[in-house]
Amino acid sequence: MATRRPSSDRLRRDGREPSSEQQPAALYAAAVPLDPARTVAELRELRQLTGNENGAQRVAWTPVWTQAKEWLAARLAELPLDYEVDEAGNQWWTLSGASERAVLMGGHIDSVPNGGWLDGCLNVVAAAEVLRRIAAEGSPTTTVRLVNWADEEGARFGRSLFGSSAAAGSMADQNELRKLSDREGVALPDALREHGVELDRALRAHSQLANAAAYLELHIEQGPVLESLGLPLGAVLGTFGVERHRITWRGQAAHAGSTPMDQRRDALAGAAKLALELRQIAERVGDGAVLTSGDVACTPGIVTSVVETAEQLLDMRHLDAGKLALMWEGVREACERFAQEERLAVEWERIWQIEPILFDETLVGFADEAVREVAGESHRLPSGPLHDAAEVSRSGVPTVMLFVQSLRGLSHTKLEDTKPEHLELAVQALDRLASKTLAWAAR
Ligand SMILES: [Zn+2]
Repeated sequence: MATRRPSSDRLRRDGREPSSEQQPAALYAAAVPLDPARTVAELRELRQLTGNENGAQRVAWTPVWTQAKEWLAARLAELPLDYEVDEAGNQWWTLSGASERAVLMGGHIDSVPNGGWLDGCLNVVAAAEVLRRIAAEGSPTTTVRLVNWADEEGARFGRSLFGSSAAAGSMADQNELRKLSDREGVALPDALREHGVELDRALRAHSQLANAAAYLELHIEQGPVLESLGLPLGAVLGTFGVERHRITWRGQAAHAGSTPMDQRRDALAGAAKLALELRQIAERVGDGAVLTSGDVACTPGIVTSVVETAEQLLDMRHLDAGKLALMWEGVREACERFAQEERLAVEWERIWQIEPILFDETLVGFADEAVREVAGESHRLPSGPLHDAAEVSRSGVPTVMLFVQSLRGLSHTKLEDTKPEHLELAVQALDRLASKTLAWAAR
């Protein structure tokens, strides 16, 4: 287990002296400058405490998760913060400022089973460091709050973004949640109750966002873009809109031996042509368009028959709602063309959709500046995965995220990693972003 070293030790180990701008106001004897190396040490300590040889085991609504939450609370115990847990199980720490308007920083300490050491907990641990720096400077003009969202991953019950959607007021599926159970048959409401959360009261967490002026979230990228550009950090523009469709191709089952090639009506041929056409559609639409044909189920699905029915699943994502519509237009046109070429019938059905969520332009500008100040160069990129930030943004609170490079683009595995020097830059960038946002919120 990593231990916290006295700061003089830490500075020697890093071979650097604190710069004058890192020095806190002289009035506060206990003041400490921002110490990004401490964040890395604390993340390693958390990994040691709540992981094993297979990776992180901080699954929400389990004892290890509780242990992680208690660990986080202990890290913050010495600061002059008000602590509360809301009706959805989210942990909140508040550093009161002159104004009740609050700048929020958040993340999630829960992980998937056998998860990585950084997904979600990086922001809460980094934000704790930023809070230490702000608290050391005395009472801020604007209130600053840290939130650890409950159950972002949805690993136990299959429902992601639990705490943030309750706070955002967008948890519309409470009746469905009541029916969910885990693999052992434990019902979701019972598991929540064991952790002091009554599902029926969870939406009351909405009051926590009443004074929110802004929400900031740092996260590992979980993708390969920043690494491929050779950049440590980026400013996140928003989260992708997603559309999922089921496309059904209908042909005619026929004997594999007796049916000449030119007389077949092979449903799989339509699905296969579309799967390849997705590349052209993505290229034509551009700006990060991604389309995936994730599954094709064939009937009768035997080796001796031409495929009669092929049910193809399609996932399409884009940050721009107009481009998402253009992608679907391209897919429909291609479906009709291939149906004609292959003498098939084709139909489609939309099975799920979420609108793109664009982060606040001013805050994206601050995030960009913060990244440039600490890393020299910035990059603006969309987020493929959803995050708690998407829920907060949907509720109308100006929101932005910072991404730090993920090695090999891997996440949700114990192989998830980020260079320690990039983690330290990320803490510095979050600190700069917090300062800019606090000044803006106080305007
Ligand atoms: Zn996460």
